[in-house]
Amino acid sequence: MSKFSKYSLTIFISVFMIYVLFGSFSSTIADYYSSYGDLKEHEVLNEDYEIDYQQRGSDISVTAIHGGGIEPGTSEVAEGLANRMNISYYLFKGIKPTNNMILHLTSKNFDEPIGRSLVQDSLTTLSIHGYHDDQEHQPIIYLGGKNEEYRETLQDSFQKWGFQVVNAPYKVGGRNVNNIVNDNQLNAGVQIELTAGLRKSLFENHDWSRANRQNTTEVYERLIDALAEGTNNYREKESAFL
Ligand SMILES: [Zn+2]
Repeated sequence: MSKFSKYSLTIFISVFMIYVLFGSFSSTIADYYSSYGDLKEHEVLNEDYEIDYQQRGSDISVTAIHGGGIEPGTSEVAEGLANRMNISYYLFKGIKPTNNMILHLTSKNFDEPIGRSLVQDSLTTLSIHGYHDDQEHQPIIYLGGKNEEYRETLQDSFQKWGFQVVNAPYKVGGRNVNNIVNDNQLNAGVQIELTAGLRKSLFENHDWSRANRQNTTEVYERLIDALAEGTNNYREKESAFL
């Protein structure tokens, strides 16, 4: 190889590495809109997105702020758990035919007032997300958030029901005080991130399209069982306090 081609190859590899690194960082941090106020100026309620909630005055609230087509499967899990346990829930759902990721407001910036207020009225919160990563074909639950007790009981329950659970990496650790999951009376909640592989397995034929998301599988039922059991065990442990 000539000196010149070695030099060109080095430049090419460097540029490629910068592109890969920068590309993967930017995909995790860049939201199209900076706040709900910004979003609602450009997107139409009940046409582009939906807000669905039930305020049941419960100690625990469950949320999916990237529901519908934003992180498919998350709002179905949140609603299923809330209805099983009769607890408050809040869902922010993308209902565009395509490109729902434009509606993704990261958890610390998510300031839609109904959602914030419902969470603030509860003692603690479970927030359900979809994980965006190269590992997403693996069925994994990443567990984060500041409520250590609740996290531990959920971890035990997930393992008992046969789910692979891993501590959340820093970027989705759910520890930011401004994250909606921690904006409750304990200033601490639990954030779970479900990989795409796991979320697809919640629906028949691994088809998570909007039309098929009512056709849930045994895995969906088992996930709701695990979440309900972990949540009930946490309540029992903390009953003196709650
Ligand atoms: Zn999310």
